[in-house]
Amino acid sequence: MTVTDLVSYEDALASYDPVMGLEVHVELGTKTKMFCGCSTELKQDANSQTCPTCLGLPGSLPVVNAIGVESAVKIGLALNCEIAEWCRFARKNYFYPDMPKNFQTSQYDEPIAFNGYLDVQLEDGEIFRVQIERAHMEEDTGKSLHVGGATGRIHGASHSLLDYNRAGIPLIEIVTKPIEGAGTRAPEVAKAYVAELRELIKALGVSEARMEQGQMRCDVNLSLRPHGREEFGTRSETKNVNSLRSVERAARFEIQRHAAVLNSGGTIVQETRHFHEEDGSTTAGRIKDNAEDYRYFPEPDLVPVAPAREWVEELRKGLPELPRVRRNRLREEWGVSEHDMQSMLNAGAIDPIVATIEAGADAASARKWWMGELARNANESGRDLASLPITPEQVARVTALVKEGSLNDKLARQVIEGVLAGEGGPDDVVEKRGLKVVSDEGALSTAVDEAIAANAGIADKIRSGKVAAAGALVGAVMKATRGQADAARVRELILEKLGVTEG
Ligand SMILES: [Zn+2]
Repeated sequence: MTVTDLVSYEDALASYDPVMGLEVHVELGTKTKMFCGCSTELKQDANSQTCPTCLGLPGSLPVVNAIGVESAVKIGLALNCEIAEWCRFARKNYFYPDMPKNFQTSQYDEPIAFNGYLDVQLEDGEIFRVQIERAHMEEDTGKSLHVGGATGRIHGASHSLLDYNRAGIPLIEIVTKPIEGAGTRAPEVAKAYVAELRELIKALGVSEARMEQGQMRCDVNLSLRPHGREEFGTRSETKNVNSLRSVERAARFEIQRHAAVLNSGGTIVQETRHFHEEDGSTTAGRIKDNAEDYRYFPEPDLVPVAPAREWVEELRKGLPELPRVRRNRLREEWGVSEHDMQSMLNAGAIDPIVATIEAGADAASARKWWMGELARNANESGRDLASLPITPEQVARVTALVKEGSLNDKLARQVIEGVLAGEGGPDDVVEKRGLKVVSDEGALSTAVDEAIAANAGIADKIRSGKVAAAGALVGAVMKATRGQADAARVRELILEKLGVTEG
């Protein structure tokens, strides 16, 4: 099905009610893997961070990572879940080349956290409660690299390479209950949920949750049912969606696709689907029926996990201020609208802005640079704000230079551009590129005299009281000084010289 065969979004929602289920995998930021002591820093050569345990060699024995369990409990508590008094790991048996044990150590019917909820705020400020089914611990698989083909997919490849460095990295999978009643706002709810979850995970300090690096990825389950029917329709599962915008687009596309299939009398196949960033479409993956049998059984090599109640309560007391509460506080402090706050949340800008303010910038300037120049740069380079090669301290330094008058906005943008290009800190870039506002009054005065002489007509207009025309002369002076003048001072000088007072 191509994009043109789809039913329009409005028509789809006029006939059907969407039901979603969101499964989010979060890679924990522990130093070592979930069941062995191998490092989780994925910087080394392929297969350099492996041992008999994460390679699944016979006779090797796993040991649970205590920080992994602690992180899982923190996530569960922050999601208002009950924490199991006793639970076990389970083997999920299936064969896949990037999973050397031929089973994944996961949790099955005894998750560590269950029965919670997360309140998410929509763009108009409305709160939507998403019910959480469970959060459980498991391990990541290795990576396959298909070589020799044009697309990097297995189709057309001449051979495949396997890297087990990622095998055994701790994951928490968070599964929602069916999300019903969102109606036309289902895609927005999906996006807002993942955004809120990302903020929560970051606030807990258990992962950096960088979606573009795969540290957090979302599977979007979606089905439609005719209005008024209780029973769920057949669902599709769009796998590994790795940006907030893509989560929204994937849900939207699937609503339109399901409606088209159903309207033409077809049946939805229960299958996994791949999301395509280029046009926002999805294509069929593998058929996934309910009978899929992983032959789960309790992992015999690991002892059960029984978190002591006192410890759980201690962790509960240590939870940070929840992101939504914090956002409301910041929104009042900064005096911005709900909508602006939502934009900052979606851009991942809140933490960098807060850090920039802590480094000495005022709130308005910090917001301006992160949501303007830097957000644009992040968008263009397909990165998130936090991974741009500029620190909040450096942004604060730029705002300080603007404040003391040695940079204007235009020059500040060039300084930021230089920092992002790796030319050093703000002061280095100012030095190397020779960027400084011309504050030498003599030089400014000369430039203003020249501009007046070259634009006699405009000067006359200003003399006769049309102060608004001064903008053109300011522009001429800025051009002559290659943007390195303080525009406000230039304007003052022009009016002074022409004997006009404002007001
Ligand atoms: Zn290992």
